[in-house]
Amino acid sequence: MTGQQRDGRDARDAREEARTVGGTRRRRARDEEADAWEALVATARRSVADRLVVGTSGNVSVRVGDIVLVTPSGVPYDRLTPDDVTGVDLDGRQVLGTLVPTSELPMHLAVYRSTGARAVVHTHAVHATAVSTLVRELPLIHYMAAALGGPVRVAPYATYGTDELAENMLHALSGRSGCLLQNHGTLTYGASLDQAYDRTAQLEWMCRLWLTVSSVPGLSPALLSPEQLAEVTERLRGYGQRG
Ligand SMILES: [Zn+2]
Repeated sequence: MTGQQRDGRDARDAREEARTVGGTRRRRARDEEADAWEALVATARRSVADRLVVGTSGNVSVRVGDIVLVTPSGVPYDRLTPDDVTGVDLDGRQVLGTLVPTSELPMHLAVYRSTGARAVVHTHAVHATAVSTLVRELPLIHYMAAALGGPVRVAPYATYGTDELAENMLHALSGRSGCLLQNHGTLTYGASLDQAYDRTAQLEWMCRLWLTVSSVPGLSPALLSPEQLAEVTERLRGYGQRG
């Protein structure tokens, strides 16, 4: 088959063909996985609508049992359908779908193997990425840092998609639910897609705040002390229980 002929084929035909390549027919998504996929696609689309992601430059994953559903590489989120469920096991072997999982899969899997995360959000949000090039840790400009476990660290740069980047990220995540990736972007996780997403939005907002105050000539911002942050951490704990 020539490339031209293949390009002209219906996407569904291509998917069916890939599903049976090598005789390894991948199983269909279970109801719980189909529901999680719908929520994942909604979260991915929201990240574009909220301008945390441009095009397909971010990725989202959610864990269902021992399966990780993840956005595929290079497919615009508005084109993803219920038939496109893409899932891997915790070792990265694809068990659902035929689209290629995101190239940032090593980071997502490292989080699930090392924490109790149920969802992970990765973006190239502009203010957070800008801050990642300036500091090793986001200064304590606002008490919402407590919602991420403390001062947000910057993982040293490594090429995207590599195990080295995943390792640097895990180190920066120690005791935190989010970090910045130097000259790259953000990564947060949570107990749900909504929580992971909200943490990314809060992180981007804090980075924007810090850039804003840092750009006032002749003045430098007041910062919170670790003690002040610890008090907020205590309060947030109580808030979560009441909520
Ligand atoms: Zn990235």
